[in-house]
Amino acid sequence: MKKCIQYGKSGGVLFRVIEIRTLHIRDFTEEKFIQNIGCTRDYTVCLACARNYLDRILNNKYAIYQQCIIFNVMLLAGIVMTSLFFYTDGALRLLGEAAIVCGVLGLFSLYRETRCRHKTYEMLNEKKRLKKAAWEYLLTVLPGKNNEMDITYIPVNEETQSLKNGDLMILYHLLPEIAVKVYMRIHCINKKNVGEPMV
Ligand SMILES: [Zn+2]
Repeated sequence: MKKCIQYGKSGGVLFRVIEIRTLHIRDFTEEKFIQNIGCTRDYTVCLACARNYLDRILNNKYAIYQQCIIFNVMLLAGIVMTSLFFYTDGALRLLGEAAIVCGVLGLFSLYRETRCRHKTYEMLNEKKRLKKAAWEYLLTVLPGKNNEMDITYIPVNEETQSLKNGDLMILYHLLPEIAVKVYMRIHCINKKNVGEPMV
């Protein structure tokens, strides 16, 4: 049995994951990207890690306040700048106003995201809630980059098995030929016990 990716404990939720590597090429007219399909790997997240993560995102007010800090600082700096330079410097006043708008929009979007996440978790039963938390936690632990390439992860489970090429392409921002390869791989590899708590 594989051990937890974080603390090495046995048991938990096993995920079979396909790696996708994407290199973004930016030119003046359009944004292109090169993509390839990487390895398929198994990862386990123990239930303690899944529970800790769930508690942190749903109940830990300190963690939620920490996320707000940057927008609060932006908002405060904007208010100070706007007050200081309201009559003296138009450019700095505009900069202050822009910071206020960014701060307010950031706080609003964070609030909406947090509420939406709470609701999604509330609708799930305990088993599905832990499974979702384990997956989200895994994504925070796995590397997001390899040199210049972004790495994204596609789980092999019943949900992705029910998707068509086109759905995979849209959902995971895949090139058409990569979506075909991902589809083939999802349907070829053994997914026994994957995504189920193993305790
Ligand atoms: Zn763990």
